[in-house]
Parts: sequence; structure tokens; C-alpha cells
Amino acid sequence: MVLGGGFGGLETAFTLRMLAGERAGITLVTDQKCFLFKPNSIYVPFGLDPDKLRVPLDRPTARKGIELIQAKAREIDPEAREVQLDGLAVPYDFLVVATGAGMRPAEVPGLAEHAISTWTPVDMLRLRAGFESLIEASLHNERRRVLFVIPPNNKCAGPLYEIVLMLDTWLRRKGAREGVEIVWSTFENSYIQAFGPRLHEVAAAEFERRGIEGHTDWTVERVEADAVSYANGEQLGYDLLVGFPPYIASTPFPGLRSDERGFLITDLASRRLVDHPEIFAVGDAAVMPWKPDRPVPGVAQGGIQGGRHAARTVRRRLSGEATPPFRYSNKGDVAVIGRLAGVTDIPWLGPFGRQSGFFAWSLWLLIHIVYLIGFANRLVVTVRWAWSFLTHGRGSRLITGTPLLPPIQEPEPPAAAPPPAVDELAVTDASGEPQ
Ligand SMILES: Cc1cc2nc3c(=O)[nH]c(=O)nc-3n(C[C@H](O)[C@H](O)[C@H](O)COP(=O)(O)OP(=O)(O)OC[C@H]3O[C@@H](n4cnc5c(N)ncnc54)[C@H](O)[C@@H]3O)c2cc1C
Repeated sequence: MVLGGGFGGLETAFTLRMLAGERAGITLVTDQKCFLFKPNSIYVPFGLDPDKLRVPLDRPTARKGIELIQAKAREIDPEAREVQLDGLAVPYDFLVVATGAGMRPAEVPGLAEHAISTWTPVDMLRLRAGFESLIEASLHNERRRVLFVIPPNNKCAGPLYEIVLMLDTWLRRKGAREGVEIVWSTFENSYIQAFGPRLHEVAAAEFERRGIEGHTDWTVERVEADAVSYANGEQLGYDLLVGFPPYIASTPFPGLRSDERGFLITDLASRRLVDHPEIFAVGDAAVMPWKPDRPVPGVAQGGIQGGRHAARTVRRRLSGEATPPFRYSNKGDVAVIGRLAGVTDIPWLGPFGRQSGFFAWSLWLLIHIVYLIGFANRLVVTVRWAWSFLTHGRGSRLITGTPLLPPIQEPEPPAAAPPPAVDELAVTDASGEPQ
């Protein structure tokens, strides 16, 4: 049984079906009827329709003989080997928990009330309205200050860095940048800390070049209706506040060993729970030690690689073979920072892997095509889409010739993302659940 229909859960279920064939009965329990391709949700504030990021799960799972149950997993009873869904107990032999992370803005007084978050498509639509209000203000020659805050315990602030830089580009294109002051504050002691120290200089240079005021080591303590107070005694006023709140596990499972935020504690070598070797935890739901001193960052690769490992392990255990240890392979850190511009830190490419500008954006594109579209192909069953993306450069196409992602109004070209609607998959309508 697999809990969660995100990167980790889907990779587990589809890989296991491929490896074990009919020897494994696979049940996928997920509380949403669609997979949401979160990486591209950063384009929603700039015009992308969030429905285009959703892929319904019923047909790809049915095609692979994976039983799909749309329900929320409430409790896990490891002794009885059962999961409690809404009013239903479902037994398992092996369990993979991939229920992802959630946000806890209430950890910072005032953050939930006054800041716009960047977690769900609904948040992103609120952010779009906020950004549009900046343009409106500039038409009346009114100045505005946009303040970004990253509080402690945010597992992966990368998307917010992408958004602030895209906002700068978008405002410039709209002729409204002069009237908007952009200020960045983070508790981190270097920029994009989750990706290690090497991207700091690149991000700092980019902030300077664009006139974005940045502060590291500024820990937000309290948010009020018009100002943010920091632990170092500083205070900053704002007209629009954007905050990426602290992370918690999306669903706590009290019967299983977890840290204080509900993230399940797994064994470094096996990805299985220390006390229950038949239970795996992958992706954002788990504390994923990568090296003893460094967790796997909260990115899709954590879920994809963890899920693949869980599937391989189960397959081997079904046939009584030895199971190899999990090794996280760092594909590198890449971020988009503007129109056809990015920053990369890809250790396995040596000095060549540390780039910025157009070349970095090209590497980012390549990596997304190789790894994320490979993942999406599990759902949409075509590699032709990837080819189409490459050959059309900026415009993703369907094999039907219909645009896969709508043109992103401003400022970015459609990202190298997967999804929706290929020949067999209809994109959800507006009633498709916002997560
Ligand atoms: C704005 C944003 C941008 C991002 N950009 C990138 C990027 O560019 N590259 C990158 O690699 N990563 C990016 N990430 C991070 C990436 O999306 C996550 O690391 C990844 O989604 C984690 O995968 P997962 O399978 O662990 O969890 P998720 O993808 O969150 O999936 C968890 C699933 O479980 C379901 N679920 C939760 N609780 C239950 C329950 N009790 N019962 C049943 N189902 C449940 C959820 O509804 C969801 O479908 C971004 C994240 C955000 C928020």
C-alpha cells in the first residue's frame, strides 16, 4: 500500500508495478484525485492557469492495474498492519508513506493573518492578485514595498527565490519596477541555504544587480498588519508580504517514530522506519538523512529516488533477494532566476556545473526534461512531448498540437514541466480540487 499521490507515492507505485508485474497487488491511497506538479506552480502568480498543473490519477493507475482509493489516511496501526482511512481499515504487507509536507504559518505570530504563502495553487492565485495590485498602484504613481520573509524551519525556500527574481523581471516588463521596492529577508545565514553554500554568491550578485535589498540572518519574530519585527531588533514595513512558512508533516502518524514536526524517522541505509522494517517513508514526509550531517532537500528528487528505492526493495524482498542500501544521488541544484536565465550548482559536472545566466537555464531545462519529464511520462505515456518541448524551445506542445501549458503571460517561458493532458488524460475542470 502506498499513501500519497505525489512524486514519492507515484514513483513507488509505478516502479513496483514495472518491476514486480502481477506478483504485487498495489493500492494507492491519496486524498486528491489529481497529481499536482508543484514545481511549475511558481508561474501561477504570473498568469499560468493552476488547472494545467493537475493530472487526474484514475486512468494512469487503472491502466497499470493499481487500485486507487481516494481517501485520507488517518492512522497507521503497525502491529495490525492496517491503515485507517475514513471509516475503513485496509491491511497491508508493505507500506510506503509518501504523504508529503504541509505548512504551519501559525508558528510565527501574525504570519498566517498577514502574509501570502506560496504553497498551494490557491495561495499562488492570491499572490497573483497581490502582484497585480502593484501594477495598479504604479498607474497612480503610488509607491509600494513588497517584503519577502523566510522563517526558520522552512525546508526548501528555493521557489521563493525564483518568485522574487521573476517578480523583478515582470515589474520591469510592465514598466512598474521603479515604483516598487523589493526587500528580501531570510533566517538563513546564506542565500538558498538548503542547496548548500555555493549558490549564495550567485544569488547575492543577482539581488544587487536587480536592486533587491537582501538580508540574511534576519529571523522573523512577529508580523503585524503593516510591519515585520525581527529577532535582531530590526523592523520592516510592507504593503505586500510574501512568506514561505515553516514546514510540518502534512499528516502526523502518532503510532510511528517521528521528529517534533511529524516527519517520520527512517534508517539512513534502508529508508525504512527504524522500528518497522515493512514501512518505508519517502519524500517530504520523512526525515531523509542523505549524509549523516545533511538531509535530502525538500525537492522532487527526494520523493522520486526514495520511491524508486522502496519499490526495488519490496520487489527484492518478494523474491527473497538481498536488498541494497539507499544512496541519494544529488543531481544538482538548479533554479530559474529570470527570463531564460538560471543558476546551477551541479557537483558531478565539476567546475562546469556552476553556472549562471542562459547557459544555466539550458542546464536547468535539460535536467527537468531528463528527470521530471521522465517521471511525468509514467502518467502521460509519451516521450514525444519531451521532444516537442525541445524542438519548440519555449512553447510546450501536445502531440495533438494543442499547447500543453498555456503561454505564460509574463515573464517566463513555460517551464520544462510535464504534465497535463495528453491523448488519454483530460485536464481537470475548475472543480478539480485545489490542494
Ligand atoms: C511552490 C513550490 C515549488 C517547488 N519547486 C520545486 C522544483 O522546482 N523542483 C523540485 O524538485 N521540487 C520543488 N518543490 C518541492 C517538491 O514539490 C516536493 O519536494 C515534492 O512534491 C515532494 O514530493 P512528495 O511525494 O514527498 O510529496 P507531495 O508531492 O506533496 O505529495 C504528497 C501527496 O500526499 C497526499 N496526502 C497528504 N496527506 C495524505 C493523507 N493523510 N492521506 C492520503 N493522501 C495524503 C497529498 O495530497 C499529495 O497528493 C516545490 C515545492 C513548492 C511548494
